[in-house]
Amino acid sequence: MRRVIPYGRQSISPEDLDAVARVLSGDWLTTGPAVAEFERDLAAHAGGASAVAVTSGTAALHCGYAAVGIGPGDEVVTTPMTFVATAATAALLGARVVFADTSEDTANLCPDAAAAAVTARTRVVAAVDYAGHPAELDRLAAVAHDAGALLLEDASHSIGSAWHGRPVGSIADLTTFSFFPTKNVTTAEGGAVATTDAALDRRAREFRNHGLVRDRDRQREPDEGGWHQEVHEFGLNYRLPDVLCALGSSQLRRLAEFKRRRAELHRRYHEALADLDGLRLPVTRPGADPMWHLYPVRVLDERRRAAYEHLRAIGIGVQVNYVPVYWHPVFADLGYRRGACPNAERFYREQLSLPLFPGLTDAEVDRVIAGVRSFFGQ
Ligand SMILES: *Cc1c(COP(=O)(O)O)cnc(C)c1O
Repeated sequence: MRRVIPYGRQSISPEDLDAVARVLSGDWLTTGPAVAEFERDLAAHAGGASAVAVTSGTAALHCGYAAVGIGPGDEVVTTPMTFVATAATAALLGARVVFADTSEDTANLCPDAAAAAVTARTRVVAAVDYAGHPAELDRLAAVAHDAGALLLEDASHSIGSAWHGRPVGSIADLTTFSFFPTKNVTTAEGGAVATTDAALDRRAREFRNHGLVRDRDRQREPDEGGWHQEVHEFGLNYRLPDVLCALGSSQLRRLAEFKRRRAELHRRYHEALADLDGLRLPVTRPGADPMWHLYPVRVLDERRRAAYEHLRAIGIGVQVNYVPVYWHPVFADLGYRRGACPNAERFYREQLSLPLFPGLTDAEVDRVIAGVRSFFGQ
């Protein structure tokens, strides 16, 4: 039996294993030097923005929104074409989530739709770099800033990507990453918040660690004693352990190699599938230098489900990314209605992610290509 080809998979090297083993047998399993080192390594890949390592991409979003201080009465404008966490973390803080439609070609948040959705209550515009292709970050930043809000970029798909020559991480007011195994680099579970704003950085760091204030200059009772720390605002424990940070630093050393292989696989799919009627391939906008996390095709003529079932039946683990967020019952129960974002809903009905990960072999890509072509009778 040939192995089922998954849609995404981690790539773990002997160096990754050594890096983890070294930390495991050392003095610090968590909150030690590997955390600071991983944060420096992340900053180097994020155009110098300060990075705060946390336990997941979801935790990163929660820290990011908490750093802005959003709560009841505030609105967050975001895209429905994302994983539910982009919206759920804002909702958990009490904000109202407002969904704006996506651009027809990239499935990224449309700046015009975002501009129409912002109000005086908007505190954050949250964009997602779908599949690794950067959103229109400059236009979205202008939309957010004109409304007195901040731009948060959920870059769970796009560490390693650049927009008009600038690396993702240094462009938006806040950028969040995920290091889940299928993402561009992994720490098993993990994530980070990056920002060039010192106040947002401090608030994200404190939220990650119970809200504890250790800086004596800011404490209300600085003379309590050497053990003293204070909580001024509630936080959580979202600390990423040293063991996982060591894996992250080791993975980042292979980021360029991962990007090259993902680009090569993207090119092979593009060349081999371009002639198929009934299939649309992902576009690359001028100015975008994506590190492709997904290869999202669009199956036209209401045939997406049939294509999914055909490919799954022959051992090709395609995936659908994503059901529009407001279709989830938790949002439907709050009164969100289908039909609100037609571009995103049409995209969802057509979308299929083909396998894409650095360890995908040439023979396996050929198997995927043959499987897709066979669905179209080619
Ligand atoms: C993966 C992902 C998340 C959540 O990240 P986790 O590390 O799984 O918590 C959030 N947003 C997007 C767009 C994602 O792809």
